[in-house]
Amino acid sequence: MDGGMIESQKANGLDPDSGTIIQVVKSAPNYAVYALDPKGLVTVWTAGCEEITGWASSDAIGKHHSFLYCAEDIAAGVADRHLAQVEQLGRVEQESWRVRKNGSEFLALLTTTALHDEAGQLSGYGKILRDTTDEAATKEAIVAREQHLQSILDTVPDAMVIIDERGLITSFSAAAERLFGYSEAEVLGANVSSLMPSPDRERHDSYIGRYLSTSERRIIGIGRIVVGQRRDGTTFPMELSIGEAGHRGHRVFTGFIHDLTESDRNELQLKELQAELIHVSRLSAMGTMASTLAHELNQPLTAIANYLETTRDLLVDPDAETVAIVRDALDEAAKESHRAGHIVRRLRDFVARGETEKRIEDLPRLIEEAAALGLVGARERGVRSFFDFDPAASPVLADRIQVQQVLVNLIRNAVEAMAQVAIRDLTITTRRRPKAMVQVSVADTGPGISEQVAPQLFEAFVSSKTDGMGLGLSICRTIIEAHGGRIWTDGAPNGGAAFHFTLMQARPEDEHDA
Ligand code: ADP
Repeated sequence: MDGGMIESQKANGLDPDSGTIIQVVKSAPNYAVYALDPKGLVTVWTAGCEEITGWASSDAIGKHHSFLYCAEDIAAGVADRHLAQVEQLGRVEQESWRVRKNGSEFLALLTTTALHDEAGQLSGYGKILRDTTDEAATKEAIVAREQHLQSILDTVPDAMVIIDERGLITSFSAAAERLFGYSEAEVLGANVSSLMPSPDRERHDSYIGRYLSTSERRIIGIGRIVVGQRRDGTTFPMELSIGEAGHRGHRVFTGFIHDLTESDRNELQLKELQAELIHVSRLSAMGTMASTLAHELNQPLTAIANYLETTRDLLVDPDAETVAIVRDALDEAAKESHRAGHIVRRLRDFVARGETEKRIEDLPRLIEEAAALGLVGARERGVRSFFDFDPAASPVLADRIQVQQVLVNLIRNAVEAMAQVAIRDLTITTRRRPKAMVQVSVADTGPGISEQVAPQLFEAFVSSKTDGMGLGLSICRTIIEAHGGRIWTDGAPNGGAAFHFTLMQARPEDEHDA
């Protein structure tokens, strides 16, 4: 709608009912189209005008258009000044408050065009008005929400990173800046994969791609423990929860990151994992104990039982009273012995049945979760952790909890061993080995294995620590051997100790076991 249309309207004798354009104008919702004569009196008033202002055309036609202005504006002569301005400029757009018939105000976006006749004389004004009160409120709400979001980003204690569908960072909270060592300005527009080590770094784009094409959630809305990489190249386990917003083509993913090396032990998920691991540790310790006990006690116990039973039989005759007492006592002893033997047998059965329940497990993930637990408090102790995962060395066939128990034992040993040295670096490496095996190594920069304990390192009750049980490594060996792997140690290249163990690599045909 422009001056030309209004002019054609005028050429039609300002008849609002004639012509298609007029029909369109009349029916346009949310738009009020009206016209004024050169003095500002209303000459055309469409249905949209009544809808928005409440004034019917019988009220409006012939009235000075100032009836739409608020009292102060009328008093200040704003209505006439406005028309003078339009006459001068030809066309003026403005947003200002107007008044409805019922006295309520609304925010109007107004376009006023000066109309001229063939001789070039001012013949009036065409006006298009749109009620933008709701839009303005929406805009205000958006601004308020944006400010709210910014305040969250500035104060949320967990690091928060927002990315778009291409994986590019669109927002980076103050806590994220502290955690990763980058400023927001440095990472805006960068691929979020730069915040993670290999192999996730190379694969992250395909993770997003897979999610966008399959909608299959592996982490979004679920959360899991992964490894992050700081600006200085050091890595750390972190708990990542991802939320998703928007729709196709305009989705954003918000990641909340909780640094687990600094975390308090109250972290729920961590606690659960810990409880599970401690439980298994106890079971494994029991297993070690049980097999030793079973071995050593079963034979003598059987002998005692036989002996006692025979004695009881021999005592059938002499001195009735004592014999009765002795027999009762021996009876009890026999019962106790049998009971002890039964317990031992049950324990042994238990150890035998304690066969590992192997499943196909993603090795990096398994290690990351274990490291999260093993490294609790490690950062405060100045331990830097590095992960070096061979993408070809996964998945493995493993009882996840048991192998995590091994890793936690090795990591805790390494962290303890490094307490007295200046450089405290812990490196966990995975490598593919021949014969479908995978090797995991945990290396530290501590003093290395002491000569006293080295020969029987993996045997139970061998410890160089005053408060050590010396059970950890023997449990590790039990678990790894039950997995068909082996565990050994050698010196780490940089002087500390390195522990290695192998696991069976999972093949595609194992899939149905998973
Ligand atoms: P514990 O930790 O209770 O002593 P373990 O079986 O886990 O029991 O360890 C046995 C011993 O092996 C330790 O006491 C320590 O002497 C030695 N050891 C284990 N890991 C390391 C390591 N990373 N560096 C040096 N010595 C280690």
